[in-house]
Amino acid sequence: MNHFEKYESYIPFDLLVPQNFLLATLALTSVVLIRYLALTTCFYVAFYRKSWPWAKSRQIYPTLPDKKIQLFEIKWSVISSGIFGLGGVLLGILWQTGWARFYLPLDEYGWGYLLLSGFLLSLLHDFYFYVTHRALHIPWLYRRFHAVHHASLQPSPWASFSFHPVESIIEALPLPLILLFLPLHPLVLLVYLTLMTLSAIVNHLGFELLPRGSARHPLGKWLISGTHHSGHHRYYKYNFGLFYTIWDHLLGTQHPAYEAQFMKNTGETDQST
Ligand SMILES: [Zn+2]
Ligand SMILES: [Zn+2]
Repeated sequence: MNHFEKYESYIPFDLLVPQNFLLATLALTSVVLIRYLALTTCFYVAFYRKSWPWAKSRQIYPTLPDKKIQLFEIKWSVISSGIFGLGGVLLGILWQTGWARFYLPLDEYGWGYLLLSGFLLSLLHDFYFYVTHRALHIPWLYRRFHAVHHASLQPSPWASFSFHPVESIIEALPLPLILLFLPLHPLVLLVYLTLMTLSAIVNHLGFELLPRGSARHPLGKWLISGTHHSGHHRYYKYNFGLFYTIWDHLLGTQHPAYEAQFMKNTGETDQST
């Protein structure tokens, strides 16, 4: 049997034993934190420490965010990593107790489903994020729980996990909830989590990485970009999505100048306009 098809490869011990629970929380927190630090450092070095013509032509804001805000973002991201680590252990417990619908034989639902399930997960997650993100902009909730993330008026890649602990809990809940009814292979979840971290970093980077013309491409226009999410940090009441612009389009929260901003950030129009 393939290594990835064995339950013990993912959960080697009983998570309900207190010391195992603590050990697993520590281990998963380390994985989340190291993945965040390693990926963000790569982007930080490539875009903030080096100056190269292509990157310069893709810079969203005229100047880079200052050190103080970057340290603020790292501090909150470290705390969030602990909450995400704990969320991972809770998901493990749901699996162990028969609630989470993980399956192990890679071809149990067919190879097509294996690929499609990751996409389905991203659609459901995006919808959950849109709804809860809109709720977090209700003034009472915003002041208490979402202002930490918006302290970065001009975010840096370190802002990708920069959330108040209550917001981090809200962010950690959708995966266990979706897994209650969506059959998923754990390997798909591992790849998904890495891509999710990558997309969060790219959307806060301060540089537009998508190809020119993406914002008006029949498929590209449905994807969130660095320009799209930076518009959320700048204008607050627009661009609430996580991966896709579907709900922003449908519910009228897409920034009306998004396409023009994207063209400017990809050098299709004059930078000074
Ligand atoms: Zn927001
Ligand atoms: Zn953000």
